[in-house]
Amino acid sequence: MSGAALKDKLTAGIRAHGPVTVADYMAACLADPDAGYYITRDPFGKKGDFTTAPEVSQMFGELIGAFCLQAFKDLGAPDSFQLVELGPGRGTLMADLLRMASLRPEFVEAASLSLVETSPTLRKIQAKTLEKAPLAPAFLDRFADVPDGPLILVANEFFDALPIHQYVRTADGWRERMIGLSETGELCFGVGTARLDDTDLPPAAQTAPHGTILETQPAANAIAQEIGTRLARHGGAALIIDYGYLKTATGDTLQALYKHTHDDVLAHPGEADLTAHVNFEALARAARDGGAIPLPPLEQGEFLLRLGLLERAGALGSGKSHSVQETIRDAVERLAAPDQMGTLFKVLALSGDGRPLAPFDMPAGSQQGFTDMRGGEIG
Ligand code: SAH
Repeated sequence: MSGAALKDKLTAGIRAHGPVTVADYMAACLADPDAGYYITRDPFGKKGDFTTAPEVSQMFGELIGAFCLQAFKDLGAPDSFQLVELGPGRGTLMADLLRMASLRPEFVEAASLSLVETSPTLRKIQAKTLEKAPLAPAFLDRFADVPDGPLILVANEFFDALPIHQYVRTADGWRERMIGLSETGELCFGVGTARLDDTDLPPAAQTAPHGTILETQPAANAIAQEIGTRLARHGGAALIIDYGYLKTATGDTLQALYKHTHDDVLAHPGEADLTAHVNFEALARAARDGGAIPLPPLEQGEFLLRLGLLERAGALGSGKSHSVQETIRDAVERLAAPDQMGTLFKVLALSGDGRPLAPFDMPAGSQQGFTDMRGGEIG
């Protein structure tokens, strides 16, 4: 089924059953079994619609590998643990991570690798990328299917692809933003009847001008809570990297990327990548509700520098040609510079029991290594 066919399917559905929520629209565009964006294609790289950090440079996955090695050590090097990636794309991050992690054979020996991926097209690419990796992946549809045990989890640009809801401030409170049909039969935005319970909103949102948009991310929060529960029960660490904001705020962040340029969100359903910025405050709260301890998030640039991005770049470029060195320098810029991915992208670490996780700071007021943030003692 082509993108045009998905537009027809959505239009027919709206004509028959009425307008759909932004979340329903996003889910159809990204995950329709016949025409969903991720289901039907490899969207990454120059020929695709966007480039992610692991596709910019091997250094990204390698440094995350270093984080995982340290987390493994801090967990007391368990005999077995679950190594999990959510939404692995082409499998590049995991391949680079495992190359770095292989420096400690006991890490690889203890790990069972699960890739949570819904796209059959991307699963095939991930299997190929990891053909020579020291671990064979199990492919899972959902995080809930990951076997029990201590967990080390990474997710890069996964949460931004999960459906969000949007609400519009009206004279009658926050009403859900819907997608319906214009008089000429084109997809268009409108306001529905469902209301947002605004009791938890920050005061600024309570007095926002009419027309202001506010987003909620129940699908993302539900997964963060599940991860939190798992971490609290079995121990471990999770690393969530995405573009987003640290405090709940108003604003429309839904965006479409089509062949590396911004596109009208409603123009190419199923053919454009559709994402929303992640609310890290909400994500951290959900993980805490699950029982894990969120550490204060870092911006991606700071996170990578603390992990030794510059040192790694120096080692990688040493003795290489001028042009290779320049490529490495460009990659450092793209990953860490404030005007590139360095500040827009945030990194949230979740700890199972409040133990420190390098290179993150401890939550304010905690006594490093002594206090379980939920009140108990660490044994
Ligand atoms: N982490 C990769 C890819 C990011 S794109 C990178 O950094 O390059 C988002 C990834 O999440 C894709 O692999 C997509 O197929 C997958 N994905 C999107 N929604 C998903 C869902 N609900 N469950 C599992 N995987 C999903």
